Amino acid sequence: MLVLILVQGEAAFAWGNEGHTYVNRVAAEKIPVSMPRFLRRAVVELAYLGPEPDRWRSPTEFALKDAQEPDHCINLERVEWLDPLPRGRYEFYKKLYEKRAATADHADDYLPERVGLQPYIVMEIYGRLKASFREYRQRKAAQQSTAAVEQTVIFYAGWMGHYVADGSQPLHTSIQYNGWVGANPKGYTAQHKIHAQFETAYVGANIAAKDFAGLVRAPEQLDDPFARYVEYLKQSNRMVEEVYALEKAGGFRGKGTAAAFEFTTHRLAAGSQMLVSLWYTAWMESAPAAQENPAAALEKK
Ligand SMILES: [Zn+2]
Repeated sequence: MLVLILVQGEAAFAWGNEGHTYVNRVAAEKIPVSMPRFLRRAVVELAYLGPEPDRWRSPTEFALKDAQEPDHCINLERVEWLDPLPRGRYEFYKKLYEKRAATADHADDYLPERVGLQPYIVMEIYGRLKASFREYRQRKAAQQSTAAVEQTVIFYAGWMGHYVADGSQPLHTSIQYNGWVGANPKGYTAQHKIHAQFETAYVGANIAAKDFAGLVRAPEQLDDPFARYVEYLKQSNRMVEEVYALEKAGGFRGKGTAAAFEFTTHRLAAGSQMLVSLWYTAWMESAPAAQENPAAALEKK
């Protein structure tokens, strides 16, 4: 029983320790010179924080483990009827409970904690990061010490990186989370092994940060971070079947295949790309003048 729990727990650690560290590190190395120097110099701290939420999953801290588990994933197939997704988590809960009440079969599949809260935790930490950047700007302008706020900026930026990286792992966006379920004409694996084999064993043994660093470009300012983030999750979800096809072809066994390497490095790069763009957007939106731009106005609604 204990073994079973550990195996299931491990299956939820998207990208494993190595992958999370790499996604944060590569994003940190792409921070542009227009952003504060203390953040560009925090590569080691940001990389360390990549796996941080996976350190909150021990049964010895039950309340924490229990509360944070739904943050790592979202079963997008369960919310296809809910388009666009609400911008706040409580409206999301409300819609899901209504759906659950109207559903006869497997109604609990619509519980928020079963569907997953991925985009909400990301936007909530994004908000914290933006608020800290604003505080940093104000203190800097007032010629006060920024040492304390620099620590909070680094923590929020690194913490958010974990979930953004989870979102680039297709199996974290899908009911096909760890073994194919439902109709299976192509004979994909139904064993509960593919998740950890792909994201932890294969990545840990075959991929390093330098393998995808060159695929990540300079950040862009996102016009609507929530909408863009949801689109990023949907794009990841469209690649779920490819993960299964690669597994079937032996792509993640041992040294794997060239196709699996190509696919996986591009997914890790997509994580770093979205992350550095979110950091950059939070910085830009924290400027006093940004409060009048349309994106900022949209967020206030
Ligand atoms: Zn995770």
